[in-house]
Amino acid sequence: MADILYIVVPCYNEEDVLPETSRRLKEKLTNLIEHGLASEQSRILFVDDGSTDSTWSFIERSHQSAEIFSGLKLSRNRGHQNALLAGLMTAMSLADVTVSLDADLQDDIGCLDEFMEKYYDGCDIVYGVRADRTTDSFFKRWSAHTYYNFMKKLGVHIIYNHADYRLMSRRALEELSEFREVNLFLRGMIPLIGYKTGTVEYTRNKRLAGTTKYPLRKMLSFAWEGISSFTVRPIRYITVLGGVMLLFSMLGLIYTLCRNFSAEGISLYSICLSSIWFIGSLQLLAIGLVGEYVGKTYMEVKKRPRYIIEKILDEAFENKKTYIS
Ligand code: UDP
Ligand code: MG
Repeated sequence: MADILYIVVPCYNEEDVLPETSRRLKEKLTNLIEHGLASEQSRILFVDDGSTDSTWSFIERSHQSAEIFSGLKLSRNRGHQNALLAGLMTAMSLADVTVSLDADLQDDIGCLDEFMEKYYDGCDIVYGVRADRTTDSFFKRWSAHTYYNFMKKLGVHIIYNHADYRLMSRRALEELSEFREVNLFLRGMIPLIGYKTGTVEYTRNKRLAGTTKYPLRKMLSFAWEGISSFTVRPIRYITVLGGVMLLFSMLGLIYTLCRNFSAEGISLYSICLSSIWFIGSLQLLAIGLVGEYVGKTYMEVKKRPRYIIEKILDEAFENKKTYIS
């Protein structure tokens, strides 16, 4: 008997792609069911992340027309990572295994069989890893490469060329639910779970339609999230920098005093001015960095809910609810 698979798809203003995405996903999941890789109770769970277009009404219509489609509506836009977590945590109680992927089908769903085979071979987590980045712009390729290397140097373990296309067993999801942090960077958190893992290589396609929901501003803030949520090394670097600067300024002071006693003399005015600017900016940078972490701690201490669910469209979920009450 095959296991129940939930395909979790976060959607934010995706009306342009959803008709085609839902058609392709339905075809794929039906195929998996027919080949005995997934149970008939498997579902495609669309998570509407507070869209302002017709995304939710499309999900509702899909659910009414075929029970293979389930829906989850967040009360407002909470961002990709929160929407994904909401979907995974909801699916956890209904599925044996989940696969998360993007609504624009940039992740090749042709690999789903391979994901499931690895799962049946005993993997609790299977990472989708991009074979190449030829469909990306030069800037995206370069920035992604630099970022991965930088994270590695900072001691943060992330899977190279892996985004959020991944399979997770229920056991792995239960462990993930124990991570209580508010600042989410799932691709850094999930490798911390451990268990037997595998990878599946795939070629990332271009977006089916519509525009990216990850503009540069969101991308940069996400990149910083990854660094500041996983390591305090930047603070240590600042401390080391402070130490080195102290050493140099002491040498500089000795040098200045020696020059003052010599016949040449020097311009004290310019030295003072440049030192003030230099030290000032260094202090600002250091204070800013410390502030970032203090701010983060503040957010974590509040333990606010990471998302609020407005509605769930899923028969299994409804049955479970009536059974419990
Ligand atoms: N997304 C979301 N909430 C947001 C932004 C994005 O749920 O606030 C979803 C989006 O609908 C898509 C996925 O996250 O399914 C990835 O976004 P996108 O494809 O636009 O990012 P890109 O591939 O351009 O980095
Ligand atoms: Mg995309």
